Amino acid sequence: MKIAELLQTRSPLELDAKDWENLFGGLQPSFRVRQVQNGLYKSYVSPWENLTIPRTLRETFKELFYLSSDHAKVTLSDNGDTLKALLTLSDQRQIETVLMRYERRSTVCISTQVGCAMNCVFCATGQGGYERHLKVHEMQEQYFWAARELKRLDSNSKITNVVLMGMGEPLANYDNSISFVRSLMTQFSLGARSITLSTVGVVPGIVKLADESLQINLAVSLHAPNDELRTQIVPINRRYGIASLVEALNIYKSRTNRRITLEYALINDLNDHDEHMTQLADIALNLKAHVNLIPLNPTPKYDFRGSPPQRVNKCKTLLQDNGVQVTIRDTRGSDIAAACGQLVANNVNFPKRKRNASLV
Ligand code: SAH
Repeated sequence: MKIAELLQTRSPLELDAKDWENLFGGLQPSFRVRQVQNGLYKSYVSPWENLTIPRTLRETFKELFYLSSDHAKVTLSDNGDTLKALLTLSDQRQIETVLMRYERRSTVCISTQVGCAMNCVFCATGQGGYERHLKVHEMQEQYFWAARELKRLDSNSKITNVVLMGMGEPLANYDNSISFVRSLMTQFSLGARSITLSTVGVVPGIVKLADESLQINLAVSLHAPNDELRTQIVPINRRYGIASLVEALNIYKSRTNRRITLEYALINDLNDHDEHMTQLADIALNLKAHVNLIPLNPTPKYDFRGSPPQRVNKCKTLLQDNGVQVTIRDTRGSDIAAACGQLVANNVNFPKRKRNASLV
């Protein structure tokens, strides 16, 4: 590939040793390639600042390459413990990433697509429609942004958990999402058990994932305990009904030995009745799954409200009385639209990337 083409079409995170050699054109010592590659993946300060390479070369890289982690508009909430980044990609499209800091852990919520095609009625991302898949490096850059931000806030902290739970459906962008997960484990030394993939319930994807020999956590957006109601809320249920979903989840469990989490957004007077909890308990007990209740977060194009706190607690008790393990998800970031289902990129003006720098 010609150098110009390389720079136009690829991220530095996508370049292999040959590409770098080609790029340097014999103008740099041979150890430089490994130095740059190692540095890029360990860059918690800034992708470029952290590289121990000559300053002029570093400046040139900054000019030549585009990394969305360098183009973040950050909003804070929860006393600075929740940070949302609006990242501008090299094609000017935008995605959101959320970093949540807790006492002993820090979680980053990664987007896997620009927009989403799943059309779940209450989800802001779905309401905005689908634009494109994210590439592996675009997911890695979200991780970089979060890792850097965390280091800046507290040099002793590091990311302990990654959830593929931002914009998009990870199993619809299967290959890139799984490559990203693998890179978290190999390049960033994160354990599979610290990684959670959340899916709307793409049955063939779940079955395929079961064969990957990955011990990651799987969360499934159930949101309704019977097909009639689920089809209204989560349209993909028309294609993959609850019975086939449960079958796929049982396969995942038997192959991986991992416990499944069922996510259930409580919507006032729609899916939060006593009988819904009885039906939900049946499904959860069949799967020995954990249930995570999410008080519905408001989104612009959905009129229903979340269940009030008393009802949320009552649902929790009803499930527990049936022997189900339940937690209620906290509402981190809801005031800055960084909570579950609220991620949607707003348009901001962004300067065009520079392309005219040269390597020498
Ligand atoms: N596509 C994947 C991951 C993205 S959504 C999935 O469907 O799981 C992450 C989680 O937020 C899902 O459980 C999703 O159903 C939930 N969610 C979406 N909109 C929400 C809202 N308005 N309030 C609460 N949870 C919501």
